Amino acid sequence: MLDRMILSNRASHVRKRIGADNVSQVDVFTLVCALENVTFVKYPLGHKISGACLKCNGSTVIAVNSSMSLGRQRFSLAHELHHYYYDEDTGSIICPMDLVGRSKVERAANQFASYLLMPQAALYNEILEIKAAGNRRLTVETVVKLEQYFGVSRHAMVIRLQQEGEISESEAERMQKGVIRSAARLGYDTSLYKPTPENENKRTYGHYIKQAVKALQSGAVSTGKYEEWLLDAFRDDIVYGEEVEGGID
Ligand SMILES: [Zn+2]
Repeated sequence: MLDRMILSNRASHVRKRIGADNVSQVDVFTLVCALENVTFVKYPLGHKISGACLKCNGSTVIAVNSSMSLGRQRFSLAHELHHYYYDEDTGSIICPMDLVGRSKVERAANQFASYLLMPQAALYNEILEIKAAGNRRLTVETVVKLEQYFGVSRHAMVIRLQQEGEISESEAERMQKGVIRSAARLGYDTSLYKPTPENENKRTYGHYIKQAVKALQSGAVSTGKYEEWLLDAFRDDIVYGEEVEGGID
């Protein structure tokens, strides 16, 4: 696998490119939707695939399995960004859910995702603050705080803390039990640990949608065709409108 320093530098380069600093949580969903020529698809992809990065003819489709928890989806999307920006030789990559037997390319993308979502400096700041408050070791409570701050799954959080030498393997194992309950008891919202609700788990964003709108506006397609394209892309919310159910702006 590539040197961690290189992957950390790549993550910080991508953050800079998108205008994010090295401290705040990065909103990967919004970032990917804004990329030129990239279509982002959320879809329940079953139990074996976490995501995919399909590059062809100047445009790219990035897909993420919406059956995974929100934290895992964010991680998977950050992982796909490594394929998008740095795996130039490969046309299409389907990423397995399974952690066993991962290739070097997959492991590098995972490490990049960890650095993109949890920049080294920001993680250290948070840990220092926790320790300054009198915690000599990181507890489940402090780990919940960290994963909520960075918007990652418990699994991604403890793997990173283990890499940084902040927790032991047995602590990591213990902390991965009763994840939702531990966060709920501390008063946190638990959507980070849950999959996308079924009525929203199939959606297409970005390039495809913009192209459909452009085709309609230029008169290249009829309204009927445009709506058909959007419905094919699971965007009935655009066709039928969801303003009525929207919240207060
Ligand atoms: Zn991958």
